Amino acid sequence: MNVQTDGAAARPLGVLAALPEELGDLIATMRAESGVATRTLGRRDYHVGTVHGAPCVVTLARVGKVAAAATASALIHAFDVHAIVFTGVAGGVGPDVRIGDVVVGDTLLQHDMNASPFFPCFEVPLLGRAQFDADRALAAALADACERFLADDGAALSARFHTAAPRVHRGLVISGDQFVASAQAVGALRALLPDALAVEMEGAAIAQVCHEYDVPCAVVRTISDTADEHASASFASFLNELAGTYSTGILKRFLSEYAGASAAR
Ligand code: SAH
Repeated sequence: MNVQTDGAAARPLGVLAALPEELGDLIATMRAESGVATRTLGRRDYHVGTVHGAPCVVTLARVGKVAAAATASALIHAFDVHAIVFTGVAGGVGPDVRIGDVVVGDTLLQHDMNASPFFPCFEVPLLGRAQFDADRALAAALADACERFLADDGAALSARFHTAAPRVHRGLVISGDQFVASAQAVGALRALLPDALAVEMEGAAIAQVCHEYDVPCAVVRTISDTADEHASASFASFLNELAGTYSTGILKRFLSEYAGASAAR
């Protein structure tokens, strides 16, 4: 099913998260704005409609690289999306990255990929690269939406949750099929990948699929934990209390701007 095929500008944007909390109010807003057409494929529900003026297909990947890659592939082939944006939470890895900060991926890498001695550590075999770039314009627009969200709501969020004033970071996001939850594990990642800002379980898989099909993508992650012994508790409370607030605030600003820019094309 192709949603709209009358011109590139009308092709929808794929919006993806792993867990329902990470989508914020997106599906409810779509329902109110345009109505939602839902199609089930591969045990996932794809919600098609318009959100904040932008034609979108919104779905949940579930957790991990295989789930994320399969969902990205379906968005590209069954829904003809022209770009994919992932929103969710992650563990902070960079020294200045704190809970409540936001990280926008400029590049993404699979930290558990290692086919050495046949290929260098982290390189995806037969693809000749370890790092996958986010689309520059999409990443810049997302970072801008994050800055505007934190300028508007950051002080209230930090007062309410006793966190430091939240900031936006841009750089390397690393992905693997592990929930990283010990000082030893996050320390090992820091030693191997000193530029890494955040660790999660989906982003680099989506970036690989998007690279293979020449589809622009971008990943935005709010820091729910610091990938250490406190990670499980911190992740769970952040997911329940704040993940939706961040996604709602960021996506509202991003999609409104994005729809305006698409209309101007
Ligand atoms: N029990 C959870 C499992 C979530 S796994 C559930 O409700 O299903 C953690 C999710 O958050 C993944 O999607 C991952 O991308 C992200 N994440 C947050 N903190 C992480 C960390 N410290 N290590 C790896 N992934 C993390």
